[in-house]
Amino acid sequence: MVKIEIDNEKCIGCGACVNACPVSLYEIVDGKSKVTGNVNDCVLCRACETTCPAGAITITE
Ligand code: SF4
Ligand code: SF4
Repeated sequence: MVKIEIDNEKCIGCGACVNACPVSLYEIVDGKSKVTGNVNDCVLCRACETTCPAGAITITE
């Protein structure tokens, strides 16, 4: 079971996670990143986590 947490306080809405995710789980909604895709599609590549310049994303297995 994958859990994706986005810290809204840290997110600067840069869109890096949107571009990084190979299964398009993220969207920018009202200037903040949001998981709008199916979390179960996550392939645990952690590209979002490592790409985020604000350290706002935490992936937990
Ligand atoms: S770990 Fe990979 S597949 Fe999962 S949300 Fe992040 S970028 Fe997308
Ligand atoms: S990469 Fe990080 S800071 Fe940029 S939109 Fe995604 S969560 Fe927000």
